[in-house]
Order: sequence, then structure tokens, then C-alpha cells
Amino acid sequence: MNNIVEKKTMYDTVMQQFNKTADAIKLDSEIRKILEATTNEIVVHFPVKLDDGKIKIFTGYRVQHNNVLGPYKGGLRYHPSLDINDAKALAMWMTWKTSLVGLPYGGAKGGIQLDPRDYSLSELERISRRFTYALGDNIGPEYDIPAPDVNTNEQTMAWIADTYMSTKSASERSRSKHVVTGKPVGSGGLEGRDRATGFGVFLNIKLWYQSKNESLKGKTFIVQGFGNVGYWVSHFLSGEGAVLIGVQDAHATLYHKEGIDVVDLHNHCKPRKGSIKGFNGAKEISAADFFGLDCNILIPAAMGNQITSDNAYKIKANLVAEGANGPTDAEGEAILLNKDIIIIPDILCNSGGVIGSYFEWLQNRNGEIWHLEEVMSKLEKKMTEVFRKVESIVKEGNIDWRSAAFILAITRIETAYKQRGIFP
Ligand code: GLU
Repeated sequence: MNNIVEKKTMYDTVMQQFNKTADAIKLDSEIRKILEATTNEIVVHFPVKLDDGKIKIFTGYRVQHNNVLGPYKGGLRYHPSLDINDAKALAMWMTWKTSLVGLPYGGAKGGIQLDPRDYSLSELERISRRFTYALGDNIGPEYDIPAPDVNTNEQTMAWIADTYMSTKSASERSRSKHVVTGKPVGSGGLEGRDRATGFGVFLNIKLWYQSKNESLKGKTFIVQGFGNVGYWVSHFLSGEGAVLIGVQDAHATLYHKEGIDVVDLHNHCKPRKGSIKGFNGAKEISAADFFGLDCNILIPAAMGNQITSDNAYKIKANLVAEGANGPTDAEGEAILLNKDIIIIPDILCNSGGVIGSYFEWLQNRNGEIWHLEEVMSKLEKKMTEVFRKVESIVKEGNIDWRSAAFILAITRIETAYKQRGIFP
């Protein structure tokens, strides 16, 4: 007998979710074959000169899952655990997400296998630029449009846009600005793109409570990850009177029953490469105790496959709002659903980011400048619309939220394939 138990991957999770939906909607078997596969899987190995003068070879990925609804779209992450399998899973989730939200995009994801903490800013700049150069025309403003993801930000996007544009002829340069979204506002970025994902997570939570005629005031929440998503969702939730009582990142787990001050914690993180460790407005507890904290809302906003059969049984929150991509694996999900815990799934819950990206892309393409109020009200309108659609499928079918979101997303793609047929 084989005693080695293979660890579940994000790819396992996304495929289980896809297969469950395909069975439920009796997805056309030919279309199923197409959607199971990733269209392009690009792996690049590229050299970069480090600060000490030595050359290091880095490995970067870009997986393009499907573009039936429009150009490939999705983030680039810098993480030591990123591999081709993760990129495939994350690219598929992007296809479902853009379809669910009704954007004219397909799905892609990629990044570089590295820990950004190991490199200086100028090394990260050279790595990002050389990666862009290595990807060449595998990305493009009307073909595949990257964006920020885990450990990448507007600065990364500025380097990528600049490098990509610099490789184009002078006349093409300014037409290529929308090769990436999530750029700094001064360089073609969208006002509010920074908070778009966190705002969307917040809005989903708020709408869910509204449907039950409850307000956010006094609700307690815990957040895993205090990066861009974790911070902004905490900001908006606390603005409505909800109380952050626990937070966890890769370095520490903090708890304070009376509430953790979001602004103070954010200020603490800034000079510490984003880490919450050492914050004195809460006490540090064991990482294993995080999921079991007594609260109303749990927001995983870090990495994939965090809620599993190892910890799902401990969860006391009655709402899990997925800020991260793929934070709950199939076994974890089954346990939560059994306990009647509601999961607002990633492809709905964190879709504010890619909606913001779509607005930025339109702004660049049309040579417009949108104001923050305009962006936030359009974002709110779009997200509310999608939330309501998913909610009605949940109610009609008496099914869970992920199943409902996946049914909508995959049915839309199936319809497009049926209308168009397969070339030749
Ligand atoms: N990385 C984000 C996500 O996973 C944003 C992608 C985008 O804006 O293209 O949805």
C-alpha cells in the first residue's frame, strides 16, 4: 500500500469545482473537453544581474486558459511556491470570473517563482523588466493583459508597461499603455483600482447582510492576509462599524477581542515590507488558533487552499467571504456547507479587482480620465448586479453560492461556443 498522501493542489480544487458544475448543468461533452484544457502554457527562464554582480536565472509563467469571450486577462504573482500547476488553476478561475461578471475577457494568470523579500527594489525592477521582455508578444493590450496579484503592485505594473512600450515602435507606444492594468494613477492607472478588490469583497458582505435585514455594525471579522485586499476590506468594513478582531499573515497571527485598529495596523505594516508582526495593538497567538476564532465573518485574503479538512471544522464564522483565489478546497468546503456556513466564492467576491481593471483598460483605450466617485459608483453598480444574479440562482435552485456562480459563468461560455462553433 502506498502511504504517501499527495497534497491537494489549487489545480485539484478548480477541477473539482469545474467537474461538479459541468455535471450539474450537463455541459456539452465537446465543450467540456475544450474548457478542461489550458490554451497556452508559457514558461520562461531568464537571466538577471543581481546587485552583487552575479547572474541568477529566474522562472516565470503565463498560462492562458481561454479567450472565447475576449483577450486573456489576469494577474501576475511573485511567490516562491508558484508553479505551472498553480498558474493553470489561477488562469481557469480568471476565465470563470470574467465570464461571471460579464466582461469581454478570457482568463490567464502567471508570475515568477520568487520571494520578493529576498531582493532589493532595483533587483525587482530588473527582474520585472526582464520577465516582460521574455514574455514578448505573448502579452499585448488586445491579446493578454496582466495585472497585479499576490506580491505585485502598481510599481510592478509601471515597470512592465514601460518595458513593453519601450520595445514597440514610436507610433505604437502610446497605443500600448493598456497592456497591463493596475498601473499608478500618474501612468495611466485608474483612480480607485487600488481599493477595487477590497471594496468588492466588502460590498458582497454588506449585500449579504442586507438581504437578511442586518447591518454591519458590531459584526466581528477576521482576515487572513493584510496586503492590498485584506487592508482595504478591513478599511471599508470598519467604516461601517464592523470590528476586526483577528488577522494573520505569513509571519504572525494577531488577536484582540475589543478590536484591532485598522489604520494603526496599516501604518505598522508599511515600513516592515507589509508584515503585521510586532504590532502592539493586539496579542500574538498561535497560527493554528486563527480559523477557530469566534467571529461573524472570515475573510481569507491571502493564498489558495487555506481552508481544508485540517481546519474547516474549527471555523465559527457564519460567513466566509473569499478575497483570495481558491482559498477553500473541496473537502474544506464540504465541511463548511455541512455546518450551514455561507461561502461567497472568490469568482464573485473578489471580482472588484478585474472589474476595476476593465475600467482602466477602457479609460486607456478611449483616452479618458475617470474620477474616483465615478469609478466607485460604476463598480458598486456592476458588483451589485452580479451579486443579485447569483443570489437569485441560489434561491431558485436552493444551492450554495459557489455552485450558483459557476453555473452562471460556465453557461455563458458554453453559449458562446454554441453560437460560434469550433474552427475550422
Ligand atoms: N489578480 C486579480 C484577480 O485575481 C486581478 C486580475 C486583473 O485585474 O486582471 O482577480
